Amino acid sequence: MEETNHIYPIFERMLGRSDKENLLGQRGLMIWFTGLSGSGKSTIAIALERELHRRGLLCRILDGDNIRSGINNNLGFSEEDRKENIRRIAEVGKLFVDTGIITIAAFISPSDELREMASSIIGKDDFLEVYVSTPLEECEKRDVKGLYAKARSGVIKNFTGVSAPFEVPHKPDLTLDTSVWDVERCVSSLLDLILPKIRIKNI
Ligand code: ADP
Repeated sequence: MEETNHIYPIFERMLGRSDKENLLGQRGLMIWFTGLSGSGKSTIAIALERELHRRGLLCRILDGDNIRSGINNNLGFSEEDRKENIRRIAEVGKLFVDTGIITIAAFISPSDELREMASSIIGKDDFLEVYVSTPLEECEKRDVKGLYAKARSGVIKNFTGVSAPFEVPHKPDLTLDTSVWDVERCVSSLLDLILPKIRIKNI
């Protein structure tokens, strides 16, 4: 192939992030929820998405349901697979953020290492860490999916909070304890944090 075949004129370049952001009238941002199973990550993510959508802001939730069943359906729960799970989520999330979309990730992401990897892939200026700090006792009492009972009886091994560690984030951008605050209060404090960061025009 001739050398010149690799030279592309500038007008054929892909449009950039700011083109997308201007089109949407919002800035892309990753809102990364971390916390124990049953702490309320998905519930708050869904309520937050509705509130942002109602204000004309485009969002995308990434959670276990749409990630583990698709792009990550070949991954298990070994340490290596958990890391690869988060790496792919962060890479996919980055594509959404680069498209100007408010991206909301709801994954346990139990260690500093995993959260730091996600933040460095996405870029720390585009990454908000939200720690859903609901105590283990409350999460276990809720036992939404019956997983804690299975973890206690040994049916599930390496379950975060029971038989695998959860490292409390050092400096989250926001901490929400859903045993104290209801969903509305959690969402309203999230909106206070997020809205100033994603506004371009008067929305
Ligand atoms: P996670 O995604 O962290 O595993 P879920 O959102 O699936 O957690 O489950 C949290 C459970 O806690 C839901 O059944 C939800 O209705 C309940 N819950 C009670 N109070 C709150 C609250 N203030 N915020 C979020 N969830 C709450």
